[in-house]
Amino acid sequence: MTNTSALRIVWIYPDLLSTYGDQGNVLILKRRAELRGIPTEVVQVYSSDPVPAQGDIYLLGGGEDRPQILAADRLRADGGLARAAAGGACVFAVCAGYQIIGESYGDDESNPLPGLGIIDIRSGRGQGRAVGEIVADVDPALGVGRITGFENHQGRTAIGPSAKPLSTTVRGIGNDDRTEGAYQGQVLGTYLHGPALPRNPELADLLLRWRVGPVAPLAPSWGERLHDERLAAGLR
Ligand code: GLN
Repeated sequence: MTNTSALRIVWIYPDLLSTYGDQGNVLILKRRAELRGIPTEVVQVYSSDPVPAQGDIYLLGGGEDRPQILAADRLRADGGLARAAAGGACVFAVCAGYQIIGESYGDDESNPLPGLGIIDIRSGRGQGRAVGEIVADVDPALGVGRITGFENHQGRTAIGPSAKPLSTTVRGIGNDDRTEGAYQGQVLGTYLHGPALPRNPELADLLLRWRVGPVAPLAPSWGERLHDERLAAGLR
């Protein structure tokens, strides 16, 4: 049953896009909303299903090269995610998901393929894989601070004039050795797995703030400890 007052979190294609525990992003958003008394509804959309229009936050995870192409083709044919983004919904996309919400991305033989075009980025294939811990400082305008994650991707990403880099890379590769991730309105993409939102509670709260306005601070718990521990490990 649909609860119309609930924050609707839509988990796109768990069967194709969900490497390195990216589903944790869904769980932490739900948890941090409910701790503030915000009811949530999680909708899982498999690749055989249409993408619903009425979501608040759409999440996409990472994927291997072939599932990535399949996911992009299906999302383009479906059209629901692009319509939701055009209507102002929030999109949070990781790695393969990040690449396919852009204008174009490279397949496993470096051929450019069309993405969904909901954020002004273009991805191609780099010389080698970017693998390991990554640390980056988020655009101060977003009030998130320093974030950490795990990256494993061949793609490199260029950011066009309508989008902004999410962060400046302190350690790791990210988009291009200098910046990591991108955002445009409430569409945000990143190469960070980990999963990204449990490792970076402030980033989870940014998405919640975009949807519901200011959120009450929460007492620090394991999420903040995990963040600080991974940050110390990432800078070692
Ligand atoms: N297949 C993409 C790349 O290698 C994304 C990988 C991922 O999602 N981990 O760039």
